[in-house]
Amino acid sequence: MAQSDLKNTVETPVEGKVSALFPTYSRYPLNLVKGHGSWLWDDQGNRYLDFMSGLAVTNLGHAPEKVREKVKAQLDELWHVSNLFHIPQQEKAAKLLTEISCADVVFFCNSGAEANEAAIKLARRYHQKVKGNGRFEVITFEQSFHGRTLATLTATGQQKVKDGFLPLPAGFTTVPLHDMDALKAAIGPDTAAIMIEMVQAEGGVYPVEVSFVQELAALCKEQELLLIVDEVQTGMGRTGKWFAHEHYGIEPDIFTSAKGLASGLPAGAMLAKEYLREGFAPGSHASTFGGNPVVSASIIATLETMIEERIPERAEKMGRYLSDKLHEAFDNEPFVKAIRGMGLIIGIECEEAVAEIVTQGQKSKLLFVTAGPNVIRLLPNLKVNRDEIDQAVDTLVALIAAHTAKEENEL
Ligand SMILES: *Cc1c(COP(=O)(O)O)cnc(C)c1O
Repeated sequence: MAQSDLKNTVETPVEGKVSALFPTYSRYPLNLVKGHGSWLWDDQGNRYLDFMSGLAVTNLGHAPEKVREKVKAQLDELWHVSNLFHIPQQEKAAKLLTEISCADVVFFCNSGAEANEAAIKLARRYHQKVKGNGRFEVITFEQSFHGRTLATLTATGQQKVKDGFLPLPAGFTTVPLHDMDALKAAIGPDTAAIMIEMVQAEGGVYPVEVSFVQELAALCKEQELLLIVDEVQTGMGRTGKWFAHEHYGIEPDIFTSAKGLASGLPAGAMLAKEYLREGFAPGSHASTFGGNPVVSASIIATLETMIEERIPERAEKMGRYLSDKLHEAFDNEPFVKAIRGMGLIIGIECEEAVAEIVTQGQKSKLLFVTAGPNVIRLLPNLKVNRDEIDQAVDTLVALIAAHTAKEENEL
């Protein structure tokens, strides 16, 4: 892309100048202004290979053509109507989601946290209003991540997101992952649901063990607890299936989606089995923007493209290619302790903190993120090709070699 394509960009923030924004993010010193496929450009005309995809959001790459066209067409017709009216685009988006998954009913909102919040509300209301048993408690797992609202940060099994926000809402318990005895001990007469990620993504890219998930699903059935799977990061083809729970041979009662759902427009969805439909009634839950015509058009176009191009299968294949390449490159590298993941969410666990490697990566024009202090997290888009993977792995090899060489020099 030529430099001339990059005009009309916003003013570069000046280093040291006080921002009008709350300091909720520590931001990298790059001004990305344009994206296409696996590539991003900064305001200096530098090109970056994007292996973070806006944190598992731009699953079809940047500005995917069909989605862009459908959204533009919708922008010409109608932007927003209230959910007090029928929204045919929303109906169609929901229908498509039920066709590709085990879910039967969908509620649309605008983010992952809201989708999980809706799941928690549905679980409580179903027990309290349909079953009439008054249950409310949700059990979650250590190192999990479920969002930043008060309920979802309470559900999150990481202390750092809770600091300074006391008092936390009641009705949540966290137990260690893979500890069936602790889980069973935590279940009581108030327990309404168990919420879990199939791959703990923010927590360090830890796929949950198959036997644990299957036992958990059986336990939920036996004790009439709702199983909620948080697929906000793992859904929409990322792991090589539409939703990661498919790898485990289970069907959750409720699961959530957001990040990759609308290719970068803000969308969240809470999906559930038919018997949970009556858990909500008119007036029991709502979202002003949820599933609005523009966002729904994006969800439809995203799903249609993914179906047409068999994106989950592609993610599975490319995930295997990337994972094999990483093993080839790092199996004899002592700095790398483990490589794990599912499809195209891959974690490279290192001996020590990797923040500096991420920064150096940006200088080498490769974008990726961490998952906890010691884990490099790779989240390429699901249409990434072999050349791009080869290039990313070569860059990672050079980055880790430079990092370990520098450490040795410092000793
Ligand atoms: C990102 C994420 C969330 C929160 O989503 P937001 O859209 O940031 O609210 C929740 N759960 C998981 C697993 C996530 O990765």
